[in-house]
Amino acid sequence: MNAASKQSDRGSAARSRLPEGVRATVIGGGLAGIAAATVLCERGAAVTVVEREPVLGGRASGWRDHLSDGQPFEMERGFHAFFRQYYNVRALLRRIDPELGNLMPLVDYPIVGPSGEMESFSGLPTRTPFQVLELVRRSPHLKLKDLMRADVRSAAQMLAFDTDTIYERFDHFTARQYLDSLSFPTRARQMLFDVFAHSFFNPEDRMSASELLMMFHFYFMGNPEGLVFDVLVEPFSLALWMPMRRYLEKRGVQFLLERSATQVSRATEKGWRVHLDKAPDHVDGDVVVLATTVPGLQSIVQASPDLQSPAWRKNVESQSVTYPFAVWRAWLDTPSSPGRHAFIGTSGLGVVDNVSEYHLFEGESRRWSMATGGSVVEVHAYAVRPELSQEAIRSEFDKTMREIYPETANARIVDERFLLRSDCPAFPPGSWRSRLQVETPFDGVALAGDFVRISQPSALMERAVSTGFLAANRLMSTWGVRPEPVRSVPTQGLLSWLPAWTAPHIA
Ligand SMILES: Cc1cc2nc3c(=O)[nH]c(=O)nc-3n(C[C@H](O)[C@H](O)[C@H](O)COP(=O)(O)OP(=O)(O)OC[C@H]3O[C@@H](n4cnc5c(N)ncnc54)[C@H](O)[C@@H]3O)c2cc1C
Repeated sequence: MNAASKQSDRGSAARSRLPEGVRATVIGGGLAGIAAATVLCERGAAVTVVEREPVLGGRASGWRDHLSDGQPFEMERGFHAFFRQYYNVRALLRRIDPELGNLMPLVDYPIVGPSGEMESFSGLPTRTPFQVLELVRRSPHLKLKDLMRADVRSAAQMLAFDTDTIYERFDHFTARQYLDSLSFPTRARQMLFDVFAHSFFNPEDRMSASELLMMFHFYFMGNPEGLVFDVLVEPFSLALWMPMRRYLEKRGVQFLLERSATQVSRATEKGWRVHLDKAPDHVDGDVVVLATTVPGLQSIVQASPDLQSPAWRKNVESQSVTYPFAVWRAWLDTPSSPGRHAFIGTSGLGVVDNVSEYHLFEGESRRWSMATGGSVVEVHAYAVRPELSQEAIRSEFDKTMREIYPETANARIVDERFLLRSDCPAFPPGSWRSRLQVETPFDGVALAGDFVRISQPSALMERAVSTGFLAANRLMSTWGVRPEPVRSVPTQGLLSWLPAWTAPHIA
């Protein structure tokens, strides 16, 4: 057990359950809110979850839809990778799937470049620095002479990660400035690094270098599991959200779907009142978890004079969302060629960031493919420039798919779905100090979400769930209740002892 999990396990002498009658309101039914609701109801709180949409899951949600021939299918917000070091996501999933049988490993997910060149991250050693040495040894995009020209001090920072100092040292630089400082050849940089930056939904030139370094540590250098991930074998709605809802309802959780929380005020007696846009007009509770998107939080706080703390409100206002992302799923009348990968990342292929072949890993799509002889392909683009139109993105997706998978060149699109959304948080340079934390200035109110700052290295789904657990722990601490363990990869890299003066000069 590492330092972070030891710390949050403290309090083993604490009580195991909340006193009778404690009520908790969770605003937002995404992973963060559901993680908080899970811990709170397991420790005896009467929990109400308020969610704006008709389904749970937020950015990882799924919902019923129909193909043009009337056949039902489960659509979702897009392909998600469940990395092995998502300890807290896995702990949440074990509530409904103790053996994690709904997860299937993807053994290889290459990065494909514009001329068909490939970079594979599979089969690398999992210990530092051996995975780095092996990647460099076998990468066709990085030769010894390139390494000799690279900036060693910059490159060493990837191994020198330390949660206590990284933000002080690198938050004022952009990810692009840091990547430029490596002086790697363009192709090597594209194939090995650009994918990382985009996977965080932020454009390199608007993302903090410290967040990028944290990602290198969390996903590649600093975890003992390596760059390996699993995928859900059935759609999100069936494999995750329906069983999760059943699990929570059995423990008394009430769901108010299709209701927006509009305001949080002090309740007349004690605790907090959450005002809703539809009946019931409000929900009263002793504690509240705000687990919404950034714009959702901003609009609630703006309308809530009782959340009175000028400094905190200023920080809430300063948060923002990043550029939009786009997801295109197409049902084709042709099969994929043998040997295709379930998932590929792409680099240097216009707006496209990855392509997945759903029929190769997801049960529903596989059954459709077997019944029709077709295939189900999904294309993603992250950090899409806002000036690009939906039509332009969709047409580039279609063109790129046909180029990289020639067997689809003449495929007929039987049906398709296109989503263009803008609700992923931005992590601009210089924002670390004003980023919001789980704790708020108000007793009984905590924050959760993948935009919330915590000391454990984590990102995306893992940060959402970790902050959900931490928010519940924070609120339960008033009653001295045993916290939910929050596990983390090591908080320091192999070279974290490097003194500050070794940091590179970044222009
Ligand atoms: C296309 C795509 C691919 C992704 N791939 C990956 C991946 O491979 N790996 C990974 O780890 N992560 C991935 N992510 C990121 C991951 O989905 C998110 O990090 C995670 O789901 C965020 O969870 P959350 O609970 O913090 O926020 P959200 O899921 O955004 O949940 C917030 C919820 O609050 C609700 N809400 C907002 N305002 C209100 C209000 N006023 N009242 C009531 N409810 C409100 C929203 O409807 C939403 O349900 C991906 C995201 C996208 C979009």
